[in-house]
Amino acid sequence: MTQIVSQTLLAHPEQISIYPASAIADFGSTLIVAPHPDDESLGCGGAIALLHQLGISVEVLVVSDGTQSHPNSLRYPAPALRDLRERETLAALAVLGNKVAVTFFRLKDGAVPNRNSNDFDFVVTRLQKYLSSRSLQTVFLPWRYDPHPDHRATWELLTTAIDTANLSLRQIEYLIWDWDPLQRKDATLPVNVKPWRLDISTVLDLKQQAIAAYRSQTTDLIDDDPQGFRLTPEMLAHFAHPWELYLEQT
Ligand SMILES: [Zn+2]
Repeated sequence: MTQIVSQTLLAHPEQISIYPASAIADFGSTLIVAPHPDDESLGCGGAIALLHQLGISVEVLVVSDGTQSHPNSLRYPAPALRDLRERETLAALAVLGNKVAVTFFRLKDGAVPNRNSNDFDFVVTRLQKYLSSRSLQTVFLPWRYDPHPDHRATWELLTTAIDTANLSLRQIEYLIWDWDPLQRKDATLPVNVKPWRLDISTVLDLKQQAIAAYRSQTTDLIDDDPQGFRLTPEMLAHFAHPWELYLEQT
């Protein structure tokens, strides 16, 4: 049966099966891929905290440098904003688990290469090296049809690197901008993708603390860019549930 993601999963997430933390106990060494610094905490903060508590190795790859959130700030020009957002990521991950390693790929925010970009193959090769130097078993990726182009490009880059490096990884996608009714598109759930929810009620406080560590995205910390980005209370409410929704490739 064809499922339109916005009409089924997002409109009625309570109908999707929910599993306890023990359901991810066999995930093995896990990588969380975030297009921007904060996506890992918004989309997977609960899973990161639970994996850490289960004693499973979990690390984070932040793909872009996050410098487009406040492009006109004089107090935080791109290098300063990048440093700030990386510090925020470190602070967020320190909350979720003190042994969660992070790698910053520092691609240009807003310009993560997709399949049509000249530098796509170059970044894929870089990712292959990164992935092959680890013995990963599970990877969390942004949803392939997320409304944000950097999120879709990140999925294309990672899945191409995984396939061409012949890696066999459990692949799980998480939604970010589809939660915004103004942005979501009517994507069809691929037949080989199964939705499920993870009960994160025991670590919801930690997830909320991690998200709050991104002060540049959630407060007026950077107040000299009228066009500056801010996660709205409405948007943040979508990431305050005691569960996280995942789409797993089967
Ligand atoms: Zn993002």
